[in-house]
Amino acid sequence: MKILMYNAVADELPYVKQWSEKTGHEVVTIDQPLNEETVNRASGFDAVSTQQTTSVNPPVYERLSQLNIKQIALRQVGYDVFDLPAAFANHVRLSNVAAYSPRAIAEYTLTQLFNLIRHNKKFDRAMAQGDYTWAAGGQAREIHDLTVAIIGVGRIGTALAEMLHALGAQVLGVDPVYRAQNEPFVTYTTLDEALRRADVISFHTPLNDETRGLADHAFFEKVQPGTIMLNFARGEIVDMTALESALASGQLAGAAFDVAPNENDFMDQKQTVDELPENIQRLVAYDNFLLSPHIAFYTNTAIKNMVEMALNDAVIMVNGGFTQNEILR
Ligand code: NAD
Repeated sequence: MKILMYNAVADELPYVKQWSEKTGHEVVTIDQPLNEETVNRASGFDAVSTQQTTSVNPPVYERLSQLNIKQIALRQVGYDVFDLPAAFANHVRLSNVAAYSPRAIAEYTLTQLFNLIRHNKKFDRAMAQGDYTWAAGGQAREIHDLTVAIIGVGRIGTALAEMLHALGAQVLGVDPVYRAQNEPFVTYTTLDEALRRADVISFHTPLNDETRGLADHAFFEKVQPGTIMLNFARGEIVDMTALESALASGQLAGAAFDVAPNENDFMDQKQTVDELPENIQRLVAYDNFLLSPHIAFYTNTAIKNMVEMALNDAVIMVNGGFTQNEILR
């Protein structure tokens, strides 16, 4: 089978080569997006794959159909790049990769939790000034003494819960969906009860009507003084003004975020520090606020899985088979 991979980036190429050698299918990679200008490049191919960075507009599906291409395999989660009615009208099947590595995000959440409880940013900043005293950072806490509330115990939340449990922490779970298989390591409870008991609160929900602005001023008032907050899901879940107030008052002892509501203004780009949005400049000045550039997912395993799962789905769909990654509505 011949597959044309649009929007291919350097990180993906070794895994494309490995997959090709393993399966015997030919993959041609190009860095251009799949659009009206480039769709004819797919002539003579059996399947195509694309990335979530560029939208695939209606004329593309029509042309793919004329070229006898019956699917598009997206290599990430966010399938809002597709025009579903146009794809379905042209009998083009679509797939995405919804879970490329839940563990990648869970591991980085845990990494940043450890960084917060060991005061690593504070120590690093002090040492950069020649201050190598213990007092510069302060005493740490140990993970097995902590109660961690996971809001959203899905794929990522479950991976995090398993690791925290293995390390001896008490794990509370808040999720409208109960998963019996999580019982050995999660105590399911209500949001209010979790906020009352937790030393650490970690968000792993999608952004939806219920979670948008969930952590507002009233939310912060319900948490224990000295709570740690982790947001590795979506920036809009947390009201950043309320977060700043909670850090300033000490209601939060620390926070680590991999996302921000205004992240498109500065993440994935280079700028000087004073060009950053003002609230981000203020937040990163805190010793107990850690910000990372939406990199929790960014591991070798995740990139490999994005490539391999998308290409496997492309083959399945061309052969008329079933994949649970198919986008049906
Ligand atoms: P998932 O669908 O497997 O799990 C989400 C869970 O949240 C589900 O169990 C759902 O029932 C629950 N949920 C929904 N609304 C809720 C609410 N109001 N209160 C409590 N729980 C609620 O998703 P996942 O794969 O675990 O991903 C979770 C989120 O992580 C994604 O939606 C995405 O925003 C984010 N994410 C971040 C990165 C990163 O690099 N930082 C990478 C991938 C995903």
